[in-house]
Amino acid sequence: MRSFCENNRELCRFTIKILIILSVAEKIQCQDFGYDGDKGPSHWGEQYNTCFGKHQSPINIDSLDVVPVNLPPLEFIGFDEQPAKTNLTNNGHTVMLELDADPQPAIAGGPLTGVYEFAQLHFHWGDNDTVGSEDLIDSHSYAMELHLVFYKSVYRNSRAALDYEDGLAVLAFFFEVTSMDNPDFTDFTTLLSDIRSPHRSTSFVNPPKLRQLIGQDLIHYYTYNGSLTTPPCSEVVVWIDFKEPISLSHDQLEKFRALEDTDGARLTHNYRPIQPLGDRIVLFNTEDVIENNLQNRNGPAYAVVPAEEPVAKPTELENEKIPDVPDQQEITEPSNTVDTEKPQSEKKGVKRKFRKNTAWRNSPNSCFTVAISLIIVLFIRFSANQFF
Ligand SMILES: [Zn+2]
Repeated sequence: MRSFCENNRELCRFTIKILIILSVAEKIQCQDFGYDGDKGPSHWGEQYNTCFGKHQSPINIDSLDVVPVNLPPLEFIGFDEQPAKTNLTNNGHTVMLELDADPQPAIAGGPLTGVYEFAQLHFHWGDNDTVGSEDLIDSHSYAMELHLVFYKSVYRNSRAALDYEDGLAVLAFFFEVTSMDNPDFTDFTTLLSDIRSPHRSTSFVNPPKLRQLIGQDLIHYYTYNGSLTTPPCSEVVVWIDFKEPISLSHDQLEKFRALEDTDGARLTHNYRPIQPLGDRIVLFNTEDVIENNLQNRNGPAYAVVPAEEPVAKPTELENEKIPDVPDQQEITEPSNTVDTEKPQSEKKGVKRKFRKNTAWRNSPNSCFTVAISLIIVLFIRFSANQFF
C-alpha cells in the first residue's frame, strides 16, 4: 500500500477520500428509527422533517371535545373472504400482516371520499398492560393498538398515495386485557414464535379473514386527519379509531413483546408519544341523530362535506420513479412496480389537494445520492489532475 501510494499519490488520495465518503454515507443511511435514545421519536424529525409537522399522529382524544356526527355507513368490502395466502412478518419494528387476495379487501363510506384498498395491518404495544396504544382516549392508554392500513385506490399504490392529503386511511382498534385468551387471535399469536427474529416471515395454514381480526361495533368511532406514526410521518392519513376495544389476554400480549428488534433486543414497546392536536377537530360518529352540528361549530367540516369539484391532478413527477420508501416504514407496498398512470377522478364532489412530491428529501436514500454525487465530483477532479 505504501509503495502504491508513493507511486500513485493522486490515485491513493482519491481512493482514501472515496472510502471516507462511503463510510460516512453508510453510517448516515444505517440510522434506522427506533423508540429509545438517539433513534427515538424525539429525534425522528432530524431526518424526516415532516415528523415536526402540525397535524401529526397519534393524539389524545378528549371525548368531551369531539363533534358528534352521523356519517354514512362504513363499507367493509371483502372482509369476509378468506385470502389465498397471508404472510406475517417481523420487520424489526412491529409484526405486519399482508394478504394475497384478488381483489384486496377495501373500505369506503364513513368519512372517506372514495374507495381505499387494503395494504397491510400491524400492531403497536407497550412494556406492560397499562401502556401501548398510540392514540389515547381521555388520556387512557390501551395495551395495544391494531392498524389496518388502506390506500386510496385512485392513487394506484400506497407509495404514490403518500403524495396526497387523502392518500391513506387507517382503521384503528384498541385492545384491552382480559383473563381469557381471544380465540380469534390464537393462530396469530402462536405464529409469532416463528418470527421472533427480525426480518423473518411465516404464513398461516388457515389464513384468517379480516373480519376475524377486527372489533364488532363498527359504528361508533372517532375520526380525524393525521399522519403516519412512524417516519416519514407523512400527513396523509384519515384516522378512524373504533371506540369498542378488542379483548386479548396478558399471555397473548406477551408473545408480541417477545419479538426482537433490529438490534436483537426484545421489542417491548413500539408506540409513538401523543402529538399536539393543533387546529384539528375530532369527529365522533354515532347513531344518535345529530343536526347541523358542524355548522354550529364554525369549524372545518373536513371529512363530512364532499362538495367541491374533483381536482385530481397528475404529479409533477408523474414520469419519474417514485422514490423508495424505507423498509421500516409502516406503509409497505405489495408491488415493486411503479405505476405512472394518472389518478382518475373516481367520485364526483371530491376535492383532492395536490401535494408536491417531497418524499425524496425525507428518504435516507438521499444520503447515498449525495455520496455518489461527491464521488463523481472527486473523480472529475482526479481525472482533470491527470490530464492537466
Ligand atoms: Zn401503526
